[in-house]
Amino acid sequence: MTQMQSISIRDLSLSFGGLTVLDTLNLDIRDGEFLVLLGPSGCGKSTLLNCIAGLLDVTEGQIFIKNRNVTWEEPARRGIGMVFQSYALYPQMTVRGNLSFGLKNKRMPKAEIDARVDRAAEILQIGPLLDRKPSALSGGQKQRVAIGRALVRDVDVFLFDEPLSNLDAKLRAELRVELKRLHTRLGNTMVYVTHDQIEALTLADRIAVMRGGVIQQLADPQVIYNRPANLFVAGFIGSPA
Ligand code: ADP
Ligand code: MG
Repeated sequence: MTQMQSISIRDLSLSFGGLTVLDTLNLDIRDGEFLVLLGPSGCGKSTLLNCIAGLLDVTEGQIFIKNRNVTWEEPARRGIGMVFQSYALYPQMTVRGNLSFGLKNKRMPKAEIDARVDRAAEILQIGPLLDRKPSALSGGQKQRVAIGRALVRDVDVFLFDEPLSNLDAKLRAELRVELKRLHTRLGNTMVYVTHDQIEALTLADRIAVMRGGVIQQLADPQVIYNRPANLFVAGFIGSPA
């Protein structure tokens, strides 16, 4: 049986000036899976995610989302929602304003906007915060709002770039559980970038371990941990020697 692919990346290369950051990279992400891109700082994780999102132009290669070639398609048309480490909320708007902003551009009726915002607020447990400004929120609450902005748009794919890195260890652990629950409830494809091995092992359906713009191994967490493909993967994931 051929599995339906959510995202296919074909021979993707990207250079900044003379520096090759992604090197003829291939990756198939399954429909509905939680895929973690794991690797050390500077290995190209954010660059790859930004290419999928359409925030960076590729140097060579192609990107398909749901079998559609989106390589040169603008970000807003790709059916993706991106969540950044820095939250990227609008400081002058309330939480409700932040959640509804992306929908107003679509000329959606107000009742529909309100219904979507209320549903996202319920799922993320931020209902009581809807009238607050971001400056009055904790880091964890801000990140819930950032996730909510993707949720209200009803996107096919969520892209997360180290969304928990600014939070303390206790909150990180709590939000990991919530993200897992969100994925189970929604069933969307989620691509999650991190340099944190524990995060990868606890969240992922599959992990792609990256180094120097190349994927070293793509497999289930148990396989990555117990049968690392090479010494780099073993060392990075902390497998028993
Ligand atoms: P990661 O997210 O894995 O930490 P990045 O994708 O941010 O890595 O960066 C990969 C490499 O590309 C790094 O060497 C970084 O310095 C370089 N890089 C990233 N963005 C730019 C840019 N806009 N211009 C030049 N080099 C960049
Ligand atoms: Mg990064």
